[in-house]
Amino acid sequence: MATLGNPQETIAVLQKYGFNFQKKFGQNFLIDTQVLDKIIAAAHIGPEDFVLEIGPGIGTMTQYLAEAAREVVAVEIDKNLIPILQDTLSDYNNVSVINDDILKVDIRQMAEERNGGKPIKVVANLPYYITTPIIMGLLENEVPLGSITVMVQKEVADRMQTGPGSKDYGALSLAVQYYAEPYIVANVPPNCFMPRPAVGSAVIRLTKHEKKPVEVKNPAFMFKIIRASFNQRRKTLQNGLHNSSELKISKEEVVNALEKMGLPVAVRGEKLTLAQFAMLSDLLTTNQE
Ligand code: SAM
Repeated sequence: MATLGNPQETIAVLQKYGFNFQKKFGQNFLIDTQVLDKIIAAAHIGPEDFVLEIGPGIGTMTQYLAEAAREVVAVEIDKNLIPILQDTLSDYNNVSVINDDILKVDIRQMAEERNGGKPIKVVANLPYYITTPIIMGLLENEVPLGSITVMVQKEVADRMQTGPGSKDYGALSLAVQYYAEPYIVANVPPNCFMPRPAVGSAVIRLTKHEKKPVEVKNPAFMFKIIRASFNQRRKTLQNGLHNSSELKISKEEVVNALEKMGLPVAVRGEKLTLAQFAMLSDLLTTNQE
């Protein structure tokens, strides 16, 4: 089977199998070898690595991963792609394809069984409709993880990487940065895909922190505070937290905590750093018990 990565080979495979793109699965296949090279280089894949690929499509990036890694498992939801993958990956004996929904796969168990519980690398051109649940699932569920190198919508990559003061700053920025160090590898225009997506894309690498950047007594409570702060972006923090149905906090308690932290009482959540959210959470958490 020929090496994939350019438009001609992709069209040839699609025609051979009479494949029709399914919009509901977020199918935009990569057709640019330079972008593929960049993803593989940014993921730092070596011959010892176990790689999980989410959504292999017709197997274009899977071929690159199989060349670089010790073992690749590719999870693809669309059953119509499975015979195609059997064909395009037939030259590799270190790749397994699983026909399943990635959100239903026990990745922790996979890492345990296939990589002796050692950190795995995740590489993907993600289906954009489930970017956040996939990434937060990987980060929150204590999957042994080295890094995640993924193609996402450009706007989402910006949200993951940015800090206070930017319009893109929000709950996703803080959640990602609590668990990992984000780095935008490249911006990728729509013409690198077939069919072309309506939005710009970017490759982002998230390297999992060995030690969390902040210490917080109750991380789940901190994330409730973060969500409440950004649910009502236009509101001050005291109103946002007081109005949240997830929390039981009075305005007075918020004001007291903000004063202890030396912050203006009318501050908005979008001004606070992760360290400040951790401090606020620790000051308020005692009131919840
Ligand atoms: N990796 C291929 C490439 O770069 O050409 C395809 C990327 S395409 C953006 C996303 C892929 O994810 C599609 O093959 C799609 O069928 C698959 N997919 C969508 N939802 C999925 C899910 N819940 N679980 C596993 N795969 C999924």
